[in-house]
Amino acid sequence: MSLKEKNTALAIVAHPDDAELTCVGSLALLKDRGWQIALATMTPGDCGTALLSREEISHIRKDEAANAASLLGASYHCLECEDIFITYDKPTLIKVIELIRKTQPGMVFTMSPDCYMVDHETTSKLVRTACFSAGIKNVKTGSPPFFHTPHLYYVDAMEGINKYGQGISPAMIVDISSKISIKEDMLACHASQREWLRTHHGMDEYIHAMRRFAAQRGADAGVPFGEGFRQHLGHAFPKNNLLSQELGILVKESMNLANTLGNEIISNKPSF
Ligand SMILES: [Zn+2]
Repeated sequence: MSLKEKNTALAIVAHPDDAELTCVGSLALLKDRGWQIALATMTPGDCGTALLSREEISHIRKDEAANAASLLGASYHCLECEDIFITYDKPTLIKVIELIRKTQPGMVFTMSPDCYMVDHETTSKLVRTACFSAGIKNVKTGSPPFFHTPHLYYVDAMEGINKYGQGISPAMIVDISSKISIKEDMLACHASQREWLRTHHGMDEYIHAMRRFAAQRGADAGVPFGEGFRQHLGHAFPKNNLLSQELGILVKESMNLANTLGNEIISNKPSF
């Protein structure tokens, strides 16, 4: 099978709304170019409430995530881990490997390996290993091996900073200016989180913070709105930049952004 036939882009993130905050603009551009899109969350977001039970909020947030995915014409999958307890262990890896074998992606997007929250970093590590292992015959899941290592991209860390408060430069920025409205519409589907922050801040901080960061990444590339990525280039992974090949001039590569990040972000920390 050629690469071109493996035209599914799969985003595996930790929680409902992580994809909307980091990569759905780029996924929408891929969708326009004929890619199938699949969105997956490790958890149903079962701690995203101050009022409801785990079961109640899980049900609500999975519906919200599925509604957001439907705006993109994407499938939605929840791997049913628990918030705070995403663990790098065999049962969890088996779930992620099985998802990759079922969806057969040519491109995979996941969380930054450096981020403020361990759930995010653990998801990143799980997906990295799952991409590497999906073609290994002796790793048994419900589906047969998928003999193709997908192109793996890490999304920006939340707020663009690592756990030491230092800015992380993306290796490329996708110009998502034409997709900022669907990114906003998809994020707005997560009404339970939006209302929580709106009550807490007295303003629509959920949407504002997303737009602020997309505008900041856009400014780094000289466009109105952007999303940043780093490609996993370790042994056995493909080295060509398929995202750049597919999106052409919308991707600005090898940006030397180190000096433009950091200070600005640290002095203007988004508040969610
Ligand atoms: Zn998250």
